[in-house]
Amino acid sequence: MPTPPPDPDCIFCRIVAGDIPCHKLHKDEHTLAFLDINPTAPGHTLLIPKAHNARLDEMPGETMAKLGAVLPRLAGAVAGAVGAPGYNILQNNGAEAGQAVFHVHFHIIPRGLPGSDFRFDWPAG
Ligand code: IMP
Repeated sequence: MPTPPPDPDCIFCRIVAGDIPCHKLHKDEHTLAFLDINPTAPGHTLLIPKAHNARLDEMPGETMAKLGAVLPRLAGAVAGAVGAPGYNILQNNGAEAGQAVFHVHFHIIPRGLPGSDFRFDWPAG
């Protein structure tokens, strides 16, 4: 499957291109990870594919494999770096599900840090 072109209106494509700065934690040929600009907890990190796909169900499985190769160790490293005993992996698709940036991304959200934790309303609705 051909690599989708960058979307000039996509903020994460612009981060990949280096047009918008980020606090980078990881990069390789296919993926990038950086701190969330509006963190829910210390260390809140986003892992993205460099290629633009708006949502998970539009993304090639090969790209998921690249992300999957990074996510476990990155998540452990992020949680370890901030001393969190746990973490959530969160991935939103569609505005109705809370997606605000339409470029696939995985949130790594450290949990259990005193004074910085939050509640999920789950199950939703
Ligand atoms: P979503 O709601 O799952 O789409 O999450 C989008 C996330 O992107 C939010 O947590 C935002 O704080 C984050 N975000 C938006 N713009 C930037 C940026 O320029 N740098 C880093 N994170 C961003």
